[in-house]
Amino acid sequence: MNFKDYIRVIPDYPNPGIRFKDITTLINNGPVYAAAIDALKQAVADKQIDLIAGPEARGFIVGAPLAVALGVGFVPIRKSGKLPGEVVEASYDLEYGSDKLAIHKDAIKPGQRILIADDLLATGGTIATTINLIRQLGGEVVGAAFLIELGYLDGRTKLDGIVPFSLVTY
Ligand code: 5GP
Repeated sequence: MNFKDYIRVIPDYPNPGIRFKDITTLINNGPVYAAAIDALKQAVADKQIDLIAGPEARGFIVGAPLAVALGVGFVPIRKSGKLPGEVVEASYDLEYGSDKLAIHKDAIKPGQRILIADDLLATGGTIATTINLIRQLGGEVVGAAFLIELGYLDGRTKLDGIVPFSLVTY
């Protein structure tokens, strides 16, 4: 299946010059959504994963069904202030300013094998921060899986040794 056929490219969103990859058209199609999750499942099947972690919000759209397909749990990574329990946090730089991601302290036990899932790998900032949070809790990041990778932004070189898998690359 050519998943690119189901991804809509929206010019000048959210800023002029950006060609936004819209996955809502892919997940709107049940068989295509299921095929995408199944393809990610096949790609990571040999990694002996204990848990999947996904950053809000589109990381939930990919990570939660992948976790169910693999029969493992899901750990939400959220913007600061959204999780109710005790958290650890890490900051990361945006184009203008910075943002903070958080994870529940008890979501991962030392030594657990964690796969990160998100919709799209761009500069790698979100996933580098997610790796940092998982490692703070003693988790072992065993991979990262994406629907889409923007190869021209070179995010895969910023993942501190983790080699990502992506269904489609632009
Ligand atoms: P990064 O931190 O790698 O620069 O950006 C990746 C994050 O930004 C992902 O969580 C992703 O959801 C979001 N993102 C950036 N550009 C796009 C885009 O063109 N399409 C979609 N769907 N998400 C994007």
